[in-house]
Amino acid sequence: MKLNDTIVALATPSGAGAIAVVRVSGPDALKIVAPLFKAKSKKPLEEQPTHTIHLGNVIDGERTIDEVLASVFRSPRSYTGEETVELSCHGSPYIQQEIIQLLIRKGCRSAEAGEFTLRAFLNAKMDLSQAEAVADLINSENAASHQMAMQQMRGGFSNEIQKLREELLNFASLIELELDFAEEDVEFANRDQFRDLVSRIQTVLKRLIDSFATGNVLKNGIPVAIVGEPNVGKSTLLNALLNEERAIVSDIAGTTRDTIEDEMSIGGVGFRFIDTAGIRETKDVVESIGIKKTFEKIGQAQVVVYLLGADQFQAQGSRFKIEIEKIKNRFPQKPILIIANKVDRLSEEELENLKSGLEVISNDSERSQYLLLSAKTGTGVEELKDKLLDYVNTGALRNSDTIVTNSRHYAALLKALEEINKVEDGLNADLSGDLLAIDIRQALHHFGEITGEITNDDLLGNIFANFCIGK
Ligand code: GDP
Repeated sequence: MKLNDTIVALATPSGAGAIAVVRVSGPDALKIVAPLFKAKSKKPLEEQPTHTIHLGNVIDGERTIDEVLASVFRSPRSYTGEETVELSCHGSPYIQQEIIQLLIRKGCRSAEAGEFTLRAFLNAKMDLSQAEAVADLINSENAASHQMAMQQMRGGFSNEIQKLREELLNFASLIELELDFAEEDVEFANRDQFRDLVSRIQTVLKRLIDSFATGNVLKNGIPVAIVGEPNVGKSTLLNALLNEERAIVSDIAGTTRDTIEDEMSIGGVGFRFIDTAGIRETKDVVESIGIKKTFEKIGQAQVVVYLLGADQFQAQGSRFKIEIEKIKNRFPQKPILIIANKVDRLSEEELENLKSGLEVISNDSERSQYLLLSAKTGTGVEELKDKLLDYVNTGALRNSDTIVTNSRHYAALLKALEEINKVEDGLNADLSGDLLAIDIRQALHHFGEITGEITNDDLLGNIFANFCIGK
């Protein structure tokens, strides 16, 4: 990929819209656009200052293609750091293509996916982890993933890594300096201070590594397994939750008929509801495979919702109790929410009996709670949402701690920690400076991978290929 030419791409989604934005970036951006832009004002576009907008026509010889607004960003004060012009035109696909084709005829090259952001990175407008956050931001579908991407884009995570890297680099240089004075047996790098730094780095790395689990869950949606037999009202319940949130329902590709996932956003947090077949004892081979699957799905979930029919409780309460015990024994850490659905079918007296029955089953209030609900009338649905949100470790969202969501960063952090642990071992064993220096350099390498001080073309290619064209 050449990086000193001028590129063009549509920055808005393809298809018709009220307006569309065609983006041009590179050393000749203004030189190429100016002759094609007949401004209403007298001053040519090339002479306009940065961060200004101009009304005019895009012309191809005698022909006027569209009336547009041209935004001018002069290097280095643009997203890419290069000379940039953005043409806001009328959003017809025909106009968009005419303008883009014209620009290509006049010397622009069609941009590759993510090339604008790649250029921003190469021109030091942002570091690599910030550039990656741009893609996450574009893909964010709920408040939680949006907030995490925003935080990363603003550089919270990079700053933390960068600071530690600099301190570590400082010690590495001091230790390497000692090597030049080997005969004199001097210590430039104060070992106690160094030990202190190593332990601080370990703490930060561990926290960031731990945050990945939370980050991943928040990014992809919190998995909730719904255990319940056919006809207890699973679909009705999911619809009741959905209707209020007006969220998108989607079947996740690759899920089989007995495990269908519905995604929705509740209170700004994404949830994935995993439908399971229930765990009723059976001799039937096919059904027992279903039970095995249900347990697998429970294993992957953060929260289990055990859904039972309130009108069945009197006759089958003891079976429900056994099943719930089974789940609790098998997954001692997992919170279970017991929901008695269809309470609208019960009389006052039956309701009282149901309550006292459920009190007994969910006596360990830490782990299991019960909830009376009617998916049909909507009773208890709000309470269910509140409870689900309570289960989520929203602490991570509320405080400003950095959360790692990118698996590439996660892998680099793990490797960095491994090397830092070696440095600690080396310090404890009074290892000589030259050996210590090797492990420190390795750790520095992994820090650099995150922020992009250390990259290679394959890595950059991989990262930016996942962007959309025009970003
Ligand atoms: P699923 O097989 O678990 O998905 O169950 P459905 O959602 O298809 O519900 C089975 C039947 O129970 C349907 O006829 C629903 O209308 C009914 N149903 C579901 N929830 C309630 C409820 O809260 N009250 C009443 N009375 N009926 C319900």
